[in-house]
Amino acid sequence: MNIILLGAPGSGKGTQASFLSKTTSLKAISTGEILRKESTKQTPVGNLLRSYMDSGNLVPDDLVIEVIKSMIKGGCDEGFVFDGFPRNVAQAKKLDEMLSLIDKKIDLVINFEVNDENLIKRIIGRFSCKKCGSVYNRFFRMPSIQNICDNCFGDSFESRSDDNEETIINRLKVYNEATKPLVDYYKNNNLLLSINGLKDHSLISEELMKAIYSLSKKY
Ligand code: AMP
Repeated sequence: MNIILLGAPGSGKGTQASFLSKTTSLKAISTGEILRKESTKQTPVGNLLRSYMDSGNLVPDDLVIEVIKSMIKGGCDEGFVFDGFPRNVAQAKKLDEMLSLIDKKIDLVINFEVNDENLIKRIIGRFSCKKCGSVYNRFFRMPSIQNICDNCFGDSFESRSDDNEETIINRLKVYNEATKPLVDYYKNNNLLLSINGLKDHSLISEELMKAIYSLSKKY
């Protein structure tokens, strides 16, 4: 089973991708995370990636598609959860093509709906544990004990360099122009399930598990 998590930056895709990779045998592929790691390298590719990511623009399709190709090649019999890919219709078509080469397809697209006001708060308030990557938010979800990670008891936190007020405006613009058309693309393919991304993350996880379970019964 191959699933796409679709939604604006800050809509909760990453949290659910990490949940699904821990609780199912699906392999999560987060292009943002992979590209962020590459972008820290002081290499020509690293510098190029940083220039796109720090301004909130999309990295060119051919670079991202190479990343996806090598991840898919690594294989996963149970399937993949794509988090942050595709980001435009050209990438979606390329993904269909790459999957059909290995006799696979997209089975479900979850669309996370969150209004702009909440997206901005979620992004500006977002920080994560340096040790385990657990994500918190200074407006909505602080660690239970101040400065101690609930998950691993780490005491060091970080914020993404692109999670700032200047970049977020462009990231939402890019989402609306390039990525939002995918909602109709997948609706027309009868693959879309829209969910209210404002609900508590554990309720959303439950909803996802139900959708995956009912889909698995069809196979
Ligand atoms: P994310 O962590 O998904 O918010 O992605 C962070 C940044 O990585 C984005 O703002 C883009 O610059 C880049 N990025 C991630 N996924 C893609 C993609 N599928 N296509 C192009 N750029 C991407």
